[in-house]
Amino acid sequence: MPNEWSQLQVKLPQLLEESRVYASRGKVAEYIPELALAPSGALGIAIMNMKGDLLTAGDCRLSFTMQSISKIFTLMLALMDLGEEAVFTKVGKEPTGDDFNSMLKLELVEPGIPFNPLINAGAIAVTSLLRGATPADRFGRVLDFFHMLTGDDSLQVNEAVYQSEKRTAHRNRSLAYFLKENEVLDEQTDVEEVLDVYFRHCAIEVNCRHLASLARILANQGADPATGRQLIPRRYVQITKTFMISCGMYNASGEFAIQAGLPAKSGVSGGILTFVPGRYGIGVVGPALNSKGNSTAGVHLLEQLSRTFDWSIF
Ligand code: GLN
Repeated sequence: MPNEWSQLQVKLPQLLEESRVYASRGKVAEYIPELALAPSGALGIAIMNMKGDLLTAGDCRLSFTMQSISKIFTLMLALMDLGEEAVFTKVGKEPTGDDFNSMLKLELVEPGIPFNPLINAGAIAVTSLLRGATPADRFGRVLDFFHMLTGDDSLQVNEAVYQSEKRTAHRNRSLAYFLKENEVLDEQTDVEEVLDVYFRHCAIEVNCRHLASLARILANQGADPATGRQLIPRRYVQITKTFMISCGMYNASGEFAIQAGLPAKSGVSGGILTFVPGRYGIGVVGPALNSKGNSTAGVHLLEQLSRTFDWSIF
């Protein structure tokens, strides 16, 4: 569609304002106290095409932490470190139908490995696999990966959010100790050290533009659209995209696949990273969440955009 970019330019502000009202149906996450400070009525979006042109609307300058969006990148990094076979002995490939922080299935199935790498238990297991001599080295590699992918070396941890989660993460601590008991975290692994790396990568601060530029690389099968350089092996992007469809929006992934039909990953700060394959990288933020933990206004906006421009991959 040659004219789509200019149509998007015209329609985006209007679609955004129509979706903003859905923010009042959601609630900002409070279980990490610092996240409760986010502006609940905000909604922003950035869309980047393969040439690198950027369209933005609404509160696109709002900074927020990646939270669970970081999980798709730690998965790709672990795959690059260890390969498919090693990673998938520690974590499965199936959706749970449960909340993202649920413990339920860990005890119900054999072997007691997390169902997939995008629920908290799975992401903690994946974080434990990352290469590095010390926790600082491991987190340093995660941050370097984001610097390399975004081309923005100023990306950093939001210290207040990191500390806030570290202080209050009783559920994640239980999950991690359970994983240790089940030997998903191996003998040499210190639970608190793994959690520390996990909390830090969840607390990396970004804006919609960063998400759009990261998503654009996934939209281009892992290659930098500007240089053609393969930044992430194509196979690992393929695996990650599949998880984004089946588990990226937690147990609302089926609904989102039907309504928007795009690979996506959300976080409890209200961010959503998604893309239209071969065409656009998209970053959205809307801190008010629905009961499944996804941005109410953000989901609405993406569904409207996908319907208007016929973006579903299905
Ligand atoms: N850091 C958050 C947690 O572990 C990430 C969860 C999320 O974004 N859904 O609870």
